[in-house]
Amino acid sequence: MNPRLFLSPPHMSGREQTYIAEAFESNYIAPLGPMVERFEQSIRSYTQAPNALALSTATAALHLALRVLGIGRGDVVLASSFTFIGSIAPILYQDAIPFFVDSDTASWNLDPELLEQAIARAPKKPKALILTHLYGQCADLDRIGEICNRHGIILIEDAAESLGALYRGRQSGTFGVFGAYSFNGNKILTTSGGGMLVSPQKEFIDKARFYSTQARDDAPHYEHTEFGYNYRMSNILAAIGVGQMEVLDERISARRQIFEWYREELESIDEITFMPELEGTRGNRWLTTLTFERTDPERVRLALEGQNIESRPLWKPMHLQPLFKEALRIENGTSQRLFETGLCLPSGTRMSRDDVSRVCETIKTVLS
Ligand SMILES: *Cc1c(COP(=O)(O)O)cnc(C)c1O
Repeated sequence: MNPRLFLSPPHMSGREQTYIAEAFESNYIAPLGPMVERFEQSIRSYTQAPNALALSTATAALHLALRVLGIGRGDVVLASSFTFIGSIAPILYQDAIPFFVDSDTASWNLDPELLEQAIARAPKKPKALILTHLYGQCADLDRIGEICNRHGIILIEDAAESLGALYRGRQSGTFGVFGAYSFNGNKILTTSGGGMLVSPQKEFIDKARFYSTQARDDAPHYEHTEFGYNYRMSNILAAIGVGQMEVLDERISARRQIFEWYREELESIDEITFMPELEGTRGNRWLTTLTFERTDPERVRLALEGQNIESRPLWKPMHLQPLFKEALRIENGTSQRLFETGLCLPSGTRMSRDDVSRVCETIKTVLS
């Protein structure tokens, strides 16, 4: 049996253990510490986000964003429907009301026209939009940003999958009032688990930092006028992040190369369409994703599994989830069609051209 090809396994640089050893030597075996500051600094300098806060997860980062903005019970929050539940659960944590907006075919991300319609139809004025850049490809930030500005809706970017993706030369995650990156085990970089909240506004990050450490007032004892969460990143995990950031550009190049290999081998097949990249953007191609016009993707997935190759359906849109059967939504069928016809292919940055060929051969066998 061939060795298993995973969808997106961790890929260490080799430097992480040096930084972990440094963390051990300093005895900062705790949340917070010098590695957390270094990791935050490396994200700031890479993304040019002026303020960054390292956290336990990106879900926690999005939760803190809503909390800091004062979004709570009964508030309407617009959100990309075609996303992972981690984008959306924070809306529920705050007892707010999600309003799901479907995708367009040009980006597979949130459709700006539907966003306008959703705002017009919302039961009350939405306070914020959580916009996902899916699979590391940028949404239409020009149009979406303009709509948010015009309606006074706060933009929060779920950049969990899109660290390093560029929109007109600027980093995804830095267009909104908040942006969130994830370092979960399957993302382009990983700390085994972790997240980062960024914002142009220092006072927002300061407030998020306060909530992330149990909302402790300034006193020698434990004094609380508000409640918070225990959401900070550990210094040990931040040491992994410091090592990972050193190879982010390499990882992005490798993901894009893997995508190019898939494209070279499969683009002549007329029933295959790859996830597009909007003009003026450069995604990180976190996962290579495609759709089949005629073939059931489940047949392809099972055939790949038979060759010890992991693949996965595209995200199931939130408006189709049982949890959200009553939720507000505006749909056009796009994300449902993508879910029903699409597949994520193995895209780990250790893959060789031969590995990609192995995947493509199996796909071609199913389609022929
Ligand atoms: C992974 C992911 C999240 C959640 O990130 P965690 O760090 O695992 O909490 C949120 N949104 C999207 C789109 C993701 O892919």
